[in-house]
Amino acid sequence: MSVAVPTQPTNESSTTQPASAAADGAPSSRWLVIGGGVMGLQVARDLIQRGQNVTIAEAAPTFGGLTSAWQLGDVVWDRFYHVTLLSDTKLRDLLKDLDLESQMDWVETKTGFYSDGQLLSMSNTAEFLKFPPLNLIEKLRLGGTIFYASKIKNWRRLEKLSVEKWLRRWSGNGVFEKIWQPLLKAKLGEAYKQTSAAFIWAHTARMYKARRSGMKTEMFGYVPGGYATILEKWVQWLEDRGAKTLVSSPAKEVRKLEDGTFRVDFGDGRVETFDNVVSTIASPVIADTVPQLSDEEKKRHRGIRYLGVVCASMLMKKPISEYYVTNITDTWVPLTAVIEMSTIVNSESQLGGNHLVYLPKYLPDDHEGLNGSDEDYKEKCLSTLEKMYDHFSRDQVIDFKIARAKYVAALATIDYSTRLPNVVSSVPGFYALNSAHIVKGNLNVNETITLGEEKFVEEVWPDYQRRVAK
Ligand SMILES: Cc1cc2nc3c(=O)[nH]c(=O)nc-3n(C[C@H](O)[C@H](O)[C@H](O)COP(=O)(O)OP(=O)(O)OC[C@H]3O[C@@H](n4cnc5c(N)ncnc54)[C@H](O)[C@@H]3O)c2cc1C
Repeated sequence: MSVAVPTQPTNESSTTQPASAAADGAPSSRWLVIGGGVMGLQVARDLIQRGQNVTIAEAAPTFGGLTSAWQLGDVVWDRFYHVTLLSDTKLRDLLKDLDLESQMDWVETKTGFYSDGQLLSMSNTAEFLKFPPLNLIEKLRLGGTIFYASKIKNWRRLEKLSVEKWLRRWSGNGVFEKIWQPLLKAKLGEAYKQTSAAFIWAHTARMYKARRSGMKTEMFGYVPGGYATILEKWVQWLEDRGAKTLVSSPAKEVRKLEDGTFRVDFGDGRVETFDNVVSTIASPVIADTVPQLSDEEKKRHRGIRYLGVVCASMLMKKPISEYYVTNITDTWVPLTAVIEMSTIVNSESQLGGNHLVYLPKYLPDDHEGLNGSDEDYKEKCLSTLEKMYDHFSRDQVIDFKIARAKYVAALATIDYSTRLPNVVSSVPGFYALNSAHIVKGNLNVNETITLGEEKFVEEVWPDYQRRVAK
């Protein structure tokens, strides 16, 4: 069901201020932003707003990274599922700047659980209270844990504790073993054992915010046309203000020369020179592309463990459930969750009357499953759906495609934030600013652009001003 949502109040920190190199007192110089995902686009936006000369280089043939789109049947939609929350204020500010926020469709969603071979609804307080796998005490402890997590401000304390220890303490062993452990294993595999309690804190806090109050309904939104629409407008916005946008341009090597400029090799004979470089790509790749970083910095970049994902997109003639997300606690199911995008995205106006389902499996970045064959994953998905849903049949599938990404989200291990490499590197003028620096939240677009802007304003720009003032 679509719901009218009040226009968001103007946010003072919306980055609509005019380009003002003079106001900042810093001259314009040539910047290269490496990576054309939302972090790279955000950094380019910050630089353009300060009157800088910006080039943004993306390795893939299109911009967007994890938010990029592809074609499924006759439908163009995101390769990986994306929704926006009412509380995603920075993202909504950006969409306002791009004249897209007023077009957003907001929808109430339902959440399902697949538990003991049964599909159960857990979308409101009454359903939560009836939820069969847990007794009343366990339900109270689960609800209490989520409420308590949503109120915690001191996330650094949680970073020191293992997620298992923390959840067993607050939810009890029964809830941990019936609910949390299967969910953690589905999302993180065995890596959950090294994960800190900050992971579950960030996750529950975001989901709690998604509900308008307490255990009530969730509101999720999307822009008609999906991220393809947002990316097209965003790249156009940058180009209109003078940014040079390069696709199919992987930065292979970044080297600082004696004259203080950076020589960037794009690997196909193209070499260009810049005054400053901001790399937004995954940390292990940053270590490989910038040989002049110190050994300690390279060690820190390479020490970050990521979660990757294999994610099928399935275009269907019929829906398979009424739930946007079906969480899975039965350990035989080889999927992290079932995501039915068409419970949010309008089937008639956006998906040609069809239904869109995503079937993700998150795996650690060194897991062999990330490189398995598409045929095997497809067969695994379809035979699993046949077992989970009596009415599911393969002849309802119009198109089926599999997307993979090795570096999706940095794993929130114990004391993670203390082991991060600095944004301002030991190579003057080279900045490493990527989503691995998210320490107070889980990975999502709002968090990525919020962090990008924060780190840019607090670290990158002041460092640049100091250097040019010398
Ligand atoms: C399955 C899934 C579901 C998600 N669901 C949601 C959701 O519902 N809501 C939400 O808000 N967020 C969601 N997200 C998260 C969101 O997609 C990310 O927060 C965001 O896209 C991260 O952007 P990024 O720029 O940091 O990284 P990326 O998107 O990974 O961008 C990095 C870019 O760098 C490029 N690159 C790599 N190496 C080089 C090189 N050498 N030279 C040049 N370019 C290079 C890559 O091609 C890529 O385009 C989801 C992500 C996934 C995977």
